[in-house]
Amino acid sequence: MPARTDNVTDPQLAASLLLMRRGQAVWARQLAELPDDRFDEPSLLPGWTRRHLVAHVGFNARAVARLVEWARTGVENPMYSSDTQRAEEIAFGATLPVEALRHLAAHAAVHLDVEWRDLPEAAWLHQVRTAQGRLVPATETVWMRTREVWIHAVDLRNGASVRDFPDVLHDLLLADLIKVWTRKRTATTPDIILAPTDRAETFSLLSEGGAAASEPLVIVGSAADVVGWGIGRSMRGVATASGGEPPRPPDWL
Ligand code: ZN
Repeated sequence: MPARTDNVTDPQLAASLLLMRRGQAVWARQLAELPDDRFDEPSLLPGWTRRHLVAHVGFNARAVARLVEWARTGVENPMYSSDTQRAEEIAFGATLPVEALRHLAAHAAVHLDVEWRDLPEAAWLHQVRTAQGRLVPATETVWMRTREVWIHAVDLRNGASVRDFPDVLHDLLLADLIKVWTRKRTATTPDIILAPTDRAETFSLLSEGGAAASEPLVIVGSAADVVGWGIGRSMRGVATASGGEPPRPPDWL
């Protein structure tokens, strides 16, 4: 095979790509370990079998690759033409034979990685639009995919756990939870303080001016378990400041 490497020289971006590739490897391993006759069983996501999940992760790689291509060519290339198209694609994908699903997962991931590898350094700062309509630099596509592969490996429900994520990913997800909750905040969103017991800092979603209208919801537990709660995947190992069971978190993605 010809020796090919990333065009990236920025150490932070190189580290981001590495974290994504570790997650892709975990996702691929969990998928490889899943026997063909277990694809019809439910995933951790409501209403989705493992088939839907595998189709989604494959089509997500293609969608993210469209954004990277957009950054490279300057020609607008949205992730999905509509929410309907995205949903129909997943529904169709779930009907594919298992072998085709495995092929989709592997091939789409390789294609995305090639798009990143070949993206010229300057093009990483070109703006592209997320499925939610936000304009972001192409560097953000790495984080978008990082969240997908690591978390959906857990959603596959065959052994991967949020507790096994690297510490740096827990930290990034704690910060991302606050960022996204802040963006999506509504009148009914409570003030929240994430207080991981194995971290020096807390992560807060507080009202403007910092003066909470009511007592903020404090979530205590290991960083891993606070993340598991925040991303809506697990209730284990977390408690409120008074030791009670926390409510469901606000919607994240
Ligand atoms: Zn997803």
